[in-house]
Amino acid sequence: EEHYGFKRWGHGHFEVDDEGFVEVRPVPDGTEIRIMDVVDEARDMGLRAPMVVRFQDLLRHRVERLNKVFRQAIKDEGYKGEYRGVFPIKVNQLREVVDEILAAGKDYHHGLEAGSKPELMIALAMHDNNQRLIICNGYKDHDYIRLALMGRKIGKRVIIVVEQLSEVDHIIEISRELGVRPLIGFRVKLQTRGEGKWSSSSGDNAKFGLNTAELLFAIEKLKAAKLTQALRLIHFHIGSQVPNILTIKNAVVEATRFYCQLSQMGFPMGYLDIGGGLGIDYDGSRTNFESSMNYSLEEYARDVVANIRDICDHSGVRVPDIISESGRAVVAPHSMLVVEVFERINKKETLRKQHRPKEKHKVVTDLEAQLKNKSRLGRLERFHDALQKKEEALSLFNLGYLDIENRAAAEALYWQICEQIDREGNESGYQPEELHDLKKILADQYVCNFSVFQSLLDHWALQQLFPIAPLHRLDEEPTVNATLADITCDSDGKISSFIDLQDTKDYLRLHALDGRPYYLGIFLTGAYQDIMGDLHNLFGRVNEVHVFLEPDEPNGFYIEEALSGSRVSDVIEGVQYQWEELCRRMKAQIDAATRKDLVKPREGVRLLEFYENQMLNKTYLSIESAAKKRK
Ligand code: PLP
Repeated sequence: EEHYGFKRWGHGHFEVDDEGFVEVRPVPDGTEIRIMDVVDEARDMGLRAPMVVRFQDLLRHRVERLNKVFRQAIKDEGYKGEYRGVFPIKVNQLREVVDEILAAGKDYHHGLEAGSKPELMIALAMHDNNQRLIICNGYKDHDYIRLALMGRKIGKRVIIVVEQLSEVDHIIEISRELGVRPLIGFRVKLQTRGEGKWSSSSGDNAKFGLNTAELLFAIEKLKAAKLTQALRLIHFHIGSQVPNILTIKNAVVEATRFYCQLSQMGFPMGYLDIGGGLGIDYDGSRTNFESSMNYSLEEYARDVVANIRDICDHSGVRVPDIISESGRAVVAPHSMLVVEVFERINKKETLRKQHRPKEKHKVVTDLEAQLKNKSRLGRLERFHDALQKKEEALSLFNLGYLDIENRAAAEALYWQICEQIDREGNESGYQPEELHDLKKILADQYVCNFSVFQSLLDHWALQQLFPIAPLHRLDEEPTVNATLADITCDSDGKISSFIDLQDTKDYLRLHALDGRPYYLGIFLTGAYQDIMGDLHNLFGRVNEVHVFLEPDEPNGFYIEEALSGSRVSDVIEGVQYQWEELCRRMKAQIDAATRKDLVKPREGVRLLEFYENQMLNKTYLSIESAAKKRK
């Protein structure tokens, strides 16, 4: 258990039971569910890993918690405004996710944020209560603005946030045309820079927002159009996953100054929108490393509330209602990816089976001597000696002076020496710089049935870390250092950095494969990953189950919805092939082969049938057939 840090990053939602299974507790103090029970039940329903599992109660809990913590901070700080959260749909657009957030946020009037026309169209239709806000961000064409104003027309509180100066003219023009009073916000480009992977969302070169001069021009335009009453909100967003609370404090202070100045100019205002950025502690280190955060939700809420209040009080301005567009912090913990390990790539195993050259070359006997005389020299010196000999062996091979058996023997001996050196390092606890990477190079690869490009895009694109752990066998000591490889035909399709208390780890400690299925969980994947995944190698969507707590059920839960992943025919059609046409083409070719007597007619029919059946199969590996083949 200590290898995986459940207690550190799990916020009490994840732990290991006495029998070595990972459990999830969606609601604090509530019942816990064995994740392997969910995997088994899904399998009985015909759904196998790779699979996304959503814990709907955990999602509900996160929405409630965010709102409760802000309410508490408002109460504790004697703040005279309210908190109005909005969920940015882009963080997870799935219907069940948005539905759950709206249901959980009903009493808190939790609203929605849209960043594009399709998202706004979802927001308008799903929005059921005019107390809730709809915030419109992103680049906007006339139709986007028209849609937003249509929402105003039917009584919704839709606020259009101006990101570019030209949008002001369009809003003025279209609201006149529609005869509706717009509600307008300005996104300001703060000088406070975000930190972490998403920090380019603020500063002079940010893609969005108005600089100070543009803000003043925008104000002139509103005045000229007699729309001063429309200006209600100041918005900023300094990037997602802000690891450092000081950055957040600074940004809030800067934005509140803007707010107060506009308020003092006589605009009605009323809302301060602090955007996203509230983090998730993916590695549980509670630090300002990129994958972590050095603050709690409570501290975040208190700091936001107190800083806004202090500056407003000081400026003699009525405090605003506070909007946050927290996405990641709400949805990341509720879902996880389950993958199955089906192969171990173990270079040391095959290398240990020594190939005996008929005549040993000197380079091989030299390496043998190095392996035997281990105690004479220091580890680093022995490593350099072995490296020299290995390179010598490769040069000899390339020049034609070393046969293939001798090359195999030299490589095997080299790895054995490396392993020996690495083992001794563990014992003494000391690790010279050059030997630091040995562990990583020596680690095995566990091949898992999934695609990083589909299911974990931020790991590939931004090296974002996610906690990963086996879902069972945690009562056994793991004995293998491994990195993870996916099944795409791409060397980038791998996970080779893992969470650790200090920085990152190059390998994960896992259990030896014993012929039985071995499942890993990749946790906290509910934000952004689902939708950003791509179709590399045409693997497509994975299976998905939505789990609800149900104390009356034998295992404490039921699967409310099961979504089947992509079939071959689905992904093929996505790139403009028609599966019927492909089948027709194959039939023609098999018929031709039959005519040439390359296959018998009966065999030809079977081949075609097999091809056609594959069209309806899932895209990921069917592990059972792979396992049979191995036997
Ligand atoms: N609001 C805006 C304007 C954003 O661009 C984003 C995402 O980057 C968010 C909100 C959501 O941020 P987070 O997921 O960090 O809460």
